[in-house]
Parts: sequence; structure tokens; C-alpha cells
Amino acid sequence: MARDPVLTFTDRGIFCPAGGFHIDPWRPVDRALVTHGHSDHARPGHGRYLATGAALPVIRHRLGDIAAEAIGWAEPRRIGDVTVSFHPAGHVPGSAQIRVEHRGEVWVVSGDYKTEADGLSEPFEPLRCDAFISECTFGLPIFRWAPQAQVMQDIADWWAANAAEGRISLVGAYGLGKAQRIMAALPALGPIHTHGAVEGPTAILRAQGYALPPTLPARAGAVPPGALVLAPPSALNTPWADRLGAPVAQAFASGWMALRGIRRRRGLATGFVISDHADWPGLNAAIAATGAERVFVTHGYTTPFRRWLAGQGRDARVVETGWSGDGEEPEGLE
Ligand SMILES: [Zn+2]
Ligand SMILES: [Zn+2]
Repeated sequence: MARDPVLTFTDRGIFCPAGGFHIDPWRPVDRALVTHGHSDHARPGHGRYLATGAALPVIRHRLGDIAAEAIGWAEPRRIGDVTVSFHPAGHVPGSAQIRVEHRGEVWVVSGDYKTEADGLSEPFEPLRCDAFISECTFGLPIFRWAPQAQVMQDIADWWAANAAEGRISLVGAYGLGKAQRIMAALPALGPIHTHGAVEGPTAILRAQGYALPPTLPARAGAVPPGALVLAPPSALNTPWADRLGAPVAQAFASGWMALRGIRRRRGLATGFVISDHADWPGLNAAIAATGAERVFVTHGYTTPFRRWLAGQGRDARVVETGWSGDGEEPEGLE
């Protein structure tokens, strides 16, 4: 006899009937298990929150006074009739996949994930499961990331060339995850200044013990030539950017920079292709490693990715969620 599914898809979010909780719900619920602090996953209004101890400080910073409990990595927790545990997703510091086990059947919600270790986020941990709920933000074969070290060298070379010409280098990078990853991996070629939207999460992660270099505020008129400024993508091509100090060279660091049309529409001469999401080989390797018979895809190129997985003989389905992915538009944290 077919058993009831461990997780179901509702208009509030992914729901576990046997545990009585939702995972990354997009509408208010009593009990929310949250994978990470990006605004499309950690939303306000839930009765109770459960997240990793590493993710919780940023979530509290964003959501204010919430009833929240921390859980350790891989710590089993009995909720109702199921056992849950949180495992690294490699997406941003503290980000988790959530494993749900019910009478021997295992489902995993990956949240957002990245398979390449970035030196800052807890590295992605492949989990065996019967059903895997996967993002596929970049679920097309055209998306293949260069190794991080290579992209960081490109950014460092660009920064050095701008500095030699007396320019400020302004990089648009999402405020939680991408910006810290860049500042942590770049060689110290000069001072690093941050926009307030970047400094908020940076200060919190630094206080948690993540190895981040010192940063200075990016105040108008107060940034010296040769400095690097990290700001949210929405700050690019704005009067704020023009007023920093010296002439400013601008670049956007995003997986979407792999698409030339987007770079052109955003009016950017320079783009660095770097993402906190898995690329095509990463998605395929992660899914293969789960051994899952059933794969649910969400976030991004769901229809072609589902068709690809079905062609590999997997039971693959598209699910609609309220998650938005690594947005093409500059607004938002992610
Ligand atoms: Zn995210
Ligand atoms: Zn997301």
C-alpha cells in the first residue's frame, strides 16, 4: 500500500503532516524550519522558528524579535512523528539542507545550495535520500562556473588595474553570502569599504567567528582611490556610487553574468560570473549523490531541468514555491 508522502506542497510552503511543521514557508505558519537567512526563505510572521545556530544571528537581525531555537549541524531532533536534522548546503554561511525521516523514509529539502566549497560557508554535504527537493536556479547546461580561485584572481586583477589608474573598484554583490565570500577570498590589495547593507551581515558573521577581513564604511566622499567597495547590486549605477570619491569602475558579481544580455541591459562593462548556487554539473552531481528515486525541482529553469531528469529515468516533478532564487534584478539580499 502506498504510504502518505513525508512532505507535501501547500500554498503556505512545504508541509510535513507527521511532524506538523513547514519548511521555509512563504506565508505565516505555527512552526517553521528555516534553511537560511535570505529573505525569500526566512520570512516574518511565523509562530516559532528552528534554524542552525550559524544561520540564526542573521535571521534575527532581519526579522527582529522572533521565537527561535537553534539546532546544531546533524543534530537529530524528534518533532511529532518524524526526526529532522540540518546539514550544510554550502550556499552561504549557516545555510542548511533539512533532512526529514519518517518510519525509515528520508526526504531532503536542499534549500539553496552550492557544491563548490567557498572557504567560508560550511561545505555542501551530500545526503542519501528517497526524495530530494532541489532548487535549479541555474538548471541549464550553459551554466558552468569557473573554479572560485580563478574568478577571484580575475577580480583581483581588475581591482589592481583600477587602482593603478586611481579609480575606486565597486563590486555589486548580494549582501549575505556573496559579498563576504569575495572579501574573504581576495588578496589584500587595499582597503575594503562596505555599503551598510553589506556591513550588517558582515559584522554579524564576523562576530560569529567567520574569518572576514576588516572593513570600513563606504561613505560618500570618504573612499580613497584604489579602494574596493562592496555594495548590493541595487547600488550600481546610482548617484551614491558616483559620490564615493575618486572615479569609480563598476562590476556585478553574479551567476547571471554568464548571460551577456543581462550584463548589457544592466549597463555594465564588467561582470564576474560567480554564484552561490550550484551550476549545471553541480546540480547533476548533487542529485546523483542522493540516490533519490523522486526529485522535485523548484527555483529557476524548472521545466527544462525536470525534462532532463525524466530523460535520465528519474521520477521528476516541478513544484511551485514562493522562493525567488538568485534574482536577476538587483533588489533583495539574494
Ligand atoms: Zn539563498
Ligand atoms: Zn532562495
